[in-house]
Amino acid sequence: SQRIWVLGAGQLGAMLKHAGMPLALDVCPVDINESSAPELAVDDLVTAEREQWPETLVTHALAQHPRFINQNVFGRLADRKTQKELIDSLGIATAPWRNVANDITANELRDQLGERVLLKRRTGGYDGRGQHWLRTDDDEVPGDWQGEAIAEQAINFDEEVSLVGVRNAAGECVFYPLTLNLHLSGILYASVAPLARLQPLQAQAEQMLGNILNALDYVGVMAMETFRVGDQLLINELAPRVHNSGHWTQAGASISQFEYHLRAVADMAIPAPQVIGQNVMINLIGTDYNPQWRNLPCARTYWYGKEVRPGRKVGHINIVSNNITEVRETLVLLGDLLPEHYYRDAIDWSLSALE
Ligand code: ATP
Ligand code: MG
Ligand code: MG
Repeated sequence: SQRIWVLGAGQLGAMLKHAGMPLALDVCPVDINESSAPELAVDDLVTAEREQWPETLVTHALAQHPRFINQNVFGRLADRKTQKELIDSLGIATAPWRNVANDITANELRDQLGERVLLKRRTGGYDGRGQHWLRTDDDEVPGDWQGEAIAEQAINFDEEVSLVGVRNAAGECVFYPLTLNLHLSGILYASVAPLARLQPLQAQAEQMLGNILNALDYVGVMAMETFRVGDQLLINELAPRVHNSGHWTQAGASISQFEYHLRAVADMAIPAPQVIGQNVMINLIGTDYNPQWRNLPCARTYWYGKEVRPGRKVGHINIVSNNITEVRETLVLLGDLLPEHYYRDAIDWSLSALE
């Protein structure tokens, strides 16, 4: 059977492997710090579960393979500066930004972007790490951010919405319905999809991401995180991989984002998805495994088997039903099986998103 190597062996790689089995694909995630490189055959395929990686024995071997799909896209999107330049060059709306050159001052950035300025490291940030709000009394950009960051205007958004889509080598694209996301301190807590009230923004969103996929001649799943400001979407960032805000599709769509990614990479058909019901995804962050999660109606727990640490994503729970009342009841039951702050942070938010 076709073998697909995945650069990286975290939860995304594991879920890709899981999705590959029914497709008769032998998906092999590889830890980038393995002491020996995998033995690649010429007709193997290579993909990645992360957009950036250090040079190791493993990443060197995988990235050199001629069938590493989207090889030249990763570097371009993993650097926020070149990612923003790409979005600008396509004339697509994004949060206004400036490069933080070595000699730029905090005052210059505020003059150009407004009073509230968010610095983001060009590379390596995730879950809100690698971000720094410029202090209003700073005259200079803090030294360790000079030359290594971009600065963004603070967007006073109504809400955060993402689009997950897939493109195959023939240039066909398929998209899921827009997903509403709750981020707190830069980390995703909950997603809700589909929502009828977001439907009027669907065509706009598909055009934005479709243009990017085509411009990059991209093959596979990509996620576009946006800020909704009125009826306008502004891109926050792009992720050239399967994405946390698409995890609901494991339970809530006829074809999951993981299956789509593999189908595109392996050059299989990508028929449009059927969405199964009302979906809510709750991330499990820094909390121990609770066997009672398994007893919840219309909910499925995905546990990543990682060491539990504060602020770390260690699993997620997908809730899906055609009956909204059942979804709501499950959310309330789940709230009692999670740390107390979840009611405040994710359960109440999800319940009100369903109103
Ligand atoms: P991810 O885990 O999604 O890769 P990340 O660390 O790459 O996250 P961003 O997505 O850039 O970071 O930002 C994280 C969150 O911070 C956003 O989802 C949003 O809530 C907030 N944020 C980011 N940029 C802005 C902005 N310009 N204005 C207001 N809030 C912002
Ligand atoms: Mg990111
Ligand atoms: Mg993000």
